Amino acid sequence: MSNDDCIFCRIARSEISASKVYADEHTIAFMDINQPTRGHVLIIPKQHYVNLFDIDRDTLAAVMETTRKIAIATKRAVNADGIQLWQSNGAAAMQEVFHFHTHIFARYVDDDIKRLGIRAAAKHPPRAELDELAQVIAQALGE
Ligand code: 5GP
Ligand code: ZN
Repeated sequence: MSNDDCIFCRIARSEISASKVYADEHTIAFMDINQPTRGHVLIIPKQHYVNLFDIDRDTLAAVMETTRKIAIATKRAVNADGIQLWQSNGAAAMQEVFHFHTHIFARYVDDDIKRLGIRAAAKHPPRAELDELAQVIAQALGE
């Protein structure tokens, strides 16, 4: 299942570039274009599911296993003090991209998210910086 107009399906098909961290049979991890702190990663199923209300159990389990792996690698790679998971379902819950995804936020003591909240802490680093971050996290996966 794939959706022509879905930005994450287009990333999964490599039609839009993304700073990819990891991929396996069912899932992909890549850097979010917004980095409120150093280490904001998205994990998606390769197939198109809108959100928690329509994803099947096996695919959800695969996404969560990748989320677990990437969370551990991210903490190590950027020397975070903690990791926050975030996952929204429906516009009322602030879901903006309607392809199921989990967010990993690297958190630091007294970081901008704590001071400003996730939205106000938005930062859009250049692609080269996202690529570098993706590489550092990918490397930590193997350690
Ligand atoms: P939501 O609010 O739906 O949980 O999160 C959607 C996320 O997708 C946001 O954090 C936003 O920055 C991110 N995003 C939107 N468009 C793109 C894109 O083209 N590339 C990447 N890497 N992230 C995107
Ligand atoms: Zn999609």
